[in-house]
Amino acid sequence: MSGRTRSVSPCYVKRNQKDIPMPSALETLVKILKLEQETGFRNTAVIGGLGSFAGNWERDARQQAKRPEHHQLIDELVQLLHDYDGKDSAEMRHDAVKYMLGRITGRIQPERAAQREVPPPQETGDQRLDAAARPPASTTEPVAAEQLASREGEGQAPPPAPREEPARHRPLPPRRGRRPALSPEEAAAKLAALQTPVVALHRVGEKMAEKLNRLGIVTVGDLLFTFPRRYDDYTRMRTLNRLVPGETVTVVAAIRSVARKQGRAGRPYLSVVLEDGTGTLQAVFFGQLWLQRQFKRGSMIVASGKVERFRNETMMTNPEWELLEREHLHTNRIVPVYPLTKGLSARTMRRLVRQALSDHAENVPDYLPEAVLERTGFPDLSWALEQVHFPDSHEYLEHARQRLSFDELFLFQMAVMAARRDWQSVPGQPLAVPDDWLGAALAALPFQLTAAQQRALDDIRRDLARDVPMNRLLQGDVGSGKTAVAALALAIAVHNGKQAALMAPTSILAEQHARNVAGLLRALPSGEHMQIRLLTGSTPSAERDEIYAGLAEGAVHVVIGTHALIQGGVTFRELGLVIIDEQHRFGVEQRGSLRGKGFNPHVLVMTATPIPRTLALTLYADLDLSIIDELPPGRSPVETRVLRPVERERVYSFIRAQLDKGRQAFIVYPLVEATDEQEDSKAAVEEYERLQTDIFPAYRVGLLHGRMAPSEKDAVMYAFASGEFQVLVATSVIEVGIDVPNASVMLIEHAERFGLAQLHQLRGRVGRGEHRSYCLLITETPSDDAIERLSALEETTDGFKLAEIDWRLRGAGDLLGTRQSGVQQFRLTELMNPRLVELAQREARTVYADDPPLERPEHHLLAQRIQALAERRGDIS
Ligand code: ADP
Ligand code: MG
Repeated sequence: MSGRTRSVSPCYVKRNQKDIPMPSALETLVKILKLEQETGFRNTAVIGGLGSFAGNWERDARQQAKRPEHHQLIDELVQLLHDYDGKDSAEMRHDAVKYMLGRITGRIQPERAAQREVPPPQETGDQRLDAAARPPASTTEPVAAEQLASREGEGQAPPPAPREEPARHRPLPPRRGRRPALSPEEAAAKLAALQTPVVALHRVGEKMAEKLNRLGIVTVGDLLFTFPRRYDDYTRMRTLNRLVPGETVTVVAAIRSVARKQGRAGRPYLSVVLEDGTGTLQAVFFGQLWLQRQFKRGSMIVASGKVERFRNETMMTNPEWELLEREHLHTNRIVPVYPLTKGLSARTMRRLVRQALSDHAENVPDYLPEAVLERTGFPDLSWALEQVHFPDSHEYLEHARQRLSFDELFLFQMAVMAARRDWQSVPGQPLAVPDDWLGAALAALPFQLTAAQQRALDDIRRDLARDVPMNRLLQGDVGSGKTAVAALALAIAVHNGKQAALMAPTSILAEQHARNVAGLLRALPSGEHMQIRLLTGSTPSAERDEIYAGLAEGAVHVVIGTHALIQGGVTFRELGLVIIDEQHRFGVEQRGSLRGKGFNPHVLVMTATPIPRTLALTLYADLDLSIIDELPPGRSPVETRVLRPVERERVYSFIRAQLDKGRQAFIVYPLVEATDEQEDSKAAVEEYERLQTDIFPAYRVGLLHGRMAPSEKDAVMYAFASGEFQVLVATSVIEVGIDVPNASVMLIEHAERFGLAQLHQLRGRVGRGEHRSYCLLITETPSDDAIERLSALEETTDGFKLAEIDWRLRGAGDLLGTRQSGVQQFRLTELMNPRLVELAQREARTVYADDPPLERPEHHLLAQRIQALAERRGDIS
């Protein structure tokens, strides 16, 4: 077998290639090597052997090559192809193919380049854009090779996909060139161009603009920053004889015939038969009969879609397609999939984004300061935008996403720090207490503070003593003793002659606080003189007016209440401290409006939702953080079990046994979807009826769901707390909850629908008294994943650990709930990546420390970008 001949009989690939202009020589070679791999390394991928193919391939490749390295790669590959014919074992051929693929994809470096750590010499901006805009693999430069890397290893054949090995060589994004120093005016003008309404785009009329508006896309900038929901990878090209049903692939083929046909139900469709010399494929188009005119016999198209097998015929239904001459937007690439709205097709959306990119992406001035880019090594903004929409490879996509996710985190952080700076710029009221006063106060408490409580108290005491207003977040599990710490903070304020307010999200919680806090405060030295009042929506008007007056003249020292506290009628004589319980339910604005009631009062926010530290530091970058990560002694953990539906009867009898001992029980149903409260309530109502009638006929069962009026909810909660109901059936509204020390069982249905942190919160509702308590989780999905995830609850009672697991498994959305302000604006990040979150924090702090008002020229664009985002958002001020 001699393969040194350079012009042997034509192989089918070559024959095809005459008709079909393959996107690039490199890609062709990859395909042949893959075929060779799939056919067991018998040197049959090309008729006459791989060596016979080398000559023609070399000619094509040289034409496309642009740089010395390209030619070097071609030299090497041509030699390898020739040598291939001489290899006489499958094993040697296997190694050779693997090596060639490795060289093409850039995984394997030539000897010389291997010693070099950094990518090729710095490119100019022009070259870079050139590389990004080029169709995949159009040259043999490393960029193109990296583009191909993703396709490598996705073939079905042995050997095992090399891509699954930890990547030693991770392709880097192209190096950034020096950016032109823009004058503030120039930069502003460029940024302003992004505000161009979408109608300015070619072929976008009023109607289309309206559809885009529905997606929140008003300007060209919005379009550029509307990122794909997901991507479909159509980069796996196939010849028609090798299509496997069920796979999503891309084919290049000629149109043999086009015909209009009737489906079985009389539904007309368009049948387009494609051929490529190896076989045929029927592409079927429903509902697009008008396409008939565009399909001309003999013209070449690229079609991407799922392969089906129907009555012995290979088919694709409604594939993505385009004529071969066009730029490959919809096929043969990693195709972006956007959020869509009625009347806006995927094709149109891609075309619009493509156009916005072509017209504007190069102009988008990068608002990240050069120093930040330098330190982090992220690619340019325009490159990232290009690649996030139309990625040339999975690696590039990842680089782009990292950059843009970083931006979201970084900008958010900068905005929050600016907000913090604003309110800290006004002097606060220093509230100091002497050690002996505090010592006496601590001695008067019915218990000794845990070490974690003590640390939190130290933080707060230090903050209060400064003349900068405190803005602190106190995190701790349900029952960790936050209230006691809060009570001491209130006492410090009152001791300094100031007023203090404690705000809770529901009146029932406000009342509970009022009872507990008042109890603690009264026990303190001179606590008996303290005027402590409760103010909620249901406070009778006479009493309310009296409290208003008392607050205004200073007779009332501490007021505890709900949103009623931020109503217009409330004025304070001298509000020194505001404590807000359950951060969750209050937005930034509400925090602000209570703060506005005083002369820059200190603010303490308490939450029982454990949020991993890094995440908390980002979302609440305007807050300092104290964590109580320890429960008071003597608390026995709630026994937790994950159960399957078949065990439900046993659970019911267990609950009955508990009720007979005088205990109480919660039975919780999830909110299926926030939008579908009605349905859920219905389900809960039905379940409630079933439980009362069939399961617990001898017991008193109550019902609580999201569609009840607040006063109704409160009434039910009271009835349960006072023991009137023995069982409470509830949707997850009890999450923010109330102390019922007598409740010893919580049954949670459909537990798999909850996040771990949320389940942990729910679980905190039991085990608050001296009774042994149980949390029973029934999962409807028998999937091992669900059970394994939930079993974390059996093993740990550490809310932070559970939150961390949630963060990693399900993203931050779950952890925080959508109502959490600040979360929606993270379009890309999902706040999933702790490393990135930390990096963004570090960079934001660095920039901030350097130039807090962002006044330096290199920060102008950044300042503008933050400003624009803040205006958009409206909630960070
Ligand atoms: P949280 O507000 O964090 O949910 P609480 O402050 O309501 O927790 O405390 C829960 C229970 O534990 C209360 O009954 C409280 O009196 C008690 N408690 C708080 N701190 C301690 C402590 N250091 N030692 C013993 N019991 C404590
Ligand atoms: Mg509490």
